[in-house]
Parts: sequence; C-alpha cells; structure tokens
Amino acid sequence: MTENEILEVFRDNSALLEGHFILSSGLHSDRYIQCALVLQHPRVAEQLGSELAAKLRDLGASVVAAPALGGILVAHEVARALGVRAIFTERQDGAMTLRRGFSLAAGEPTLVVEDVLTTGLSTRETIQCVEQAGAKVVGAGALIDRSGGTADLGLPRAALLSLQIQNYNPADCPLCKSGSPAVKPGSRTKK
Ligand SMILES: [Zn+2]
Repeated sequence: MTENEILEVFRDNSALLEGHFILSSGLHSDRYIQCALVLQHPRVAEQLGSELAAKLRDLGASVVAAPALGGILVAHEVARALGVRAIFTERQDGAMTLRRGFSLAAGEPTLVVEDVLTTGLSTRETIQCVEQAGAKVVGAGALIDRSGGTADLGLPRAALLSLQIQNYNPADCPLCKSGSPAVKPGSRTKK
C-alpha cells in the first residue's frame, strides 16, 4: 500500500480528525489519530499488520511486543504476518512491566510496535522493559509516526505513514488564540 492509500483507510474510518484537540499528553494539536477506529475492522487490521511486518521482517524477530492498550492489536497482526508470537507490556504503579506469565528468552530478537508514535516515550519504555527481561530489541514499528521521523529510538524502525503534526502548549496554542474551543477526542463533548 502507498502512503496515500494508508491515509485513505484512516480518513474513511474517521480515524484521522482535523480540528482542535487536547491530546492525552495535555498538548493541543490540529489533528488527531484514533487507530482503534481502523483496527476495529479485523481484515483492515490484518492488512496493515502485514504491511508493517513486511518492512520489519528482515530483522529476524521471533516475538513482537507492544505497550497496552493501543499497541496490542498492532503487535498481534504484525506477529500473525511474521508467524511469531505477540506479547504486551502494561503499566503497574506507573512502570511498564511484563505480566500474565509472558516471558522472553535470553537474547531473544524482539520487535517493539505501537499504533501511533508521538514522542516515542511509550515505545522507549517498552524497549526498556523487554531488555530488562533479557531479550534483545532488534527494531521498532508503528502504524503512524506522527513525529515526522524525529523521535530517535536508536534502532531500525518503520512506520506505514509518517506525518509531521504540530503539538502546542496550551499557553501558546494558535488555535486557542483564534478562539476555537479545544475538544478531547473520544469524549462526548461536541465542538
Ligand atoms: Zn489549543
């Protein structure tokens, strides 16, 4: 799939919104991505996972790990395409941890994926968690890299779509200055 075709899939599912949004980080932005709206369609999820897997296949991973919740379906579909297993990390008392009996072999080649890479923070936390478990992270992937490729993970990485989306501190958000109300996507607040 080309980047335009990927973009179309997101637009068709109202998964890429334009307006004035409050991100979970508290920053404001003029665009918002909600991957769950795309991933709710298993065939589309499978196709996107397979596209991302193709870009990461040569790294030779035998497991795909992702941060819960957003990354779980992405890891599942990338792992399906690669024929390997998928696991996820989750927060416990603020720290990313491997629970549910998931284990990694010493030095096991692992991919870390998520739905949207914004600053790379949750990917970095997942990488750290996987490495603490003794595995070796060989690469990272995301359906969408909204840092425009600027988040450095020090690893081979791939995304289906790279978008340069501006984030603003509320104090100097030009959209706020223009008087438009900011909305939290996913909430029922109407614009
Ligand atoms: Zn604003």
